[in-house]
Amino acid sequence: MEVRYLFLDMNAYFASVEQQDDENLRGKPVCVVPVEAETTVCIAASYEARRYGVKTGTPVYEARARCPRIVIRKARPRRYVEVHQQILKAVESVLPIEEVRSIDEMRFKLLKNERARAEAIAKELKKAIRTQVGEHLPASVGGGPNRFLAKVATELEKPDGLVLIRKEDLPEILWELELTDLYGIGRRMERRLNRLGIFTVRQLTEAPLELLRRAWGSVLGERMYRNLRGEDLPEIETHRRSFAHSHVLSPELRSPEKARLVAVRLLVKAAARMRKAGYAAGSLFLHLRFLEGEDYAAFTHLTPTFATRTLVFALRRLWPENERRPVLKASVTLGHLVAYPGLSLFPAERKNQLLAQALDSVNRRFGPDTVRPATLDLVGEVGEYRIAFDKMPDFSV
Ligand SMILES: [Mg+2]
Repeated sequence: MEVRYLFLDMNAYFASVEQQDDENLRGKPVCVVPVEAETTVCIAASYEARRYGVKTGTPVYEARARCPRIVIRKARPRRYVEVHQQILKAVESVLPIEEVRSIDEMRFKLLKNERARAEAIAKELKKAIRTQVGEHLPASVGGGPNRFLAKVATELEKPDGLVLIRKEDLPEILWELELTDLYGIGRRMERRLNRLGIFTVRQLTEAPLELLRRAWGSVLGERMYRNLRGEDLPEIETHRRSFAHSHVLSPELRSPEKARLVAVRLLVKAAARMRKAGYAAGSLFLHLRFLEGEDYAAFTHLTPTFATRTLVFALRRLWPENERRPVLKASVTLGHLVAYPGLSLFPAERKNQLLAQALDSVNRRFGPDTVRPATLDLVGEVGEYRIAFDKMPDFSV
């Protein structure tokens, strides 16, 4: 069957950005660390470093022992986010993104008339990054009849790969992979599968449905079984596609300045609901209806986040500049949801995440809105204890 999805995975992303920005690092073993300390671990390793057995998770002292000439670079999260935005823009000049999965992964859904050209489109995606962002940022593009196999295909050739999995290649094409190369199999699940007698991907593809159900539970086990066979299943998060809030503004709130605060308030509420349900947003949509009847709409993809501050900054970028017209209605929508992604490696984002979680725990205990951005009191009731968290220094995440 035809290729319906493409998946793009930047190879050794942080290390590649360092090599892109500093030509002295190209072709050399490089690893990126979160802080300058011998006891910390590499969060990315260039392919040259991987040849020495240095990989994500290798402690710095061990990396030096394995490869004495390795270059250790401190991570530059803002730069990685900046390049990420450039990559999103470049690939969207070829094909709209279905979902930004993380800072170095994105997925595309092909329309019926695009499927026959999947390979050419995959090449165009890679070319767009090379020509519009940088020559030294390799990406592996995978394609498949479903989302799962498109991602798996990126594991088959690295770096700079291009592999399309077609239904007729199944299951043999998967047999060279390790179990943990498959999305949904971490170390824990690997051990569980081992206990059930499954040690290879070949055994997994030949195992009966019942065994997969025993490993993953009935719903996820059946999904894995059908995914491995190339069925195009609906996304699992479809039961909760977005969190949206909208508000019709009373006359005293219709100035663009006040309307912006209303939109922030809507966003703060939507983000809190989203966190409670255990999700992060991969996109933010803003819609304004002006009093005169016109509309304004803006949309942005995000590296999935549940941090209110990060979302508020994203909203600020979407807000129309120099808008003077009175606003009648404002709506914000958090979409492209992914299950809670865990705490970020980036200090700025991590700080925003921890702040959101801290505020949630106060608000859970003392009631909704007990702590909220102080500026929002200009548009709502006042009284309770306040923390001005949008007065903290601006990180453009
Ligand atoms: Mg990657």
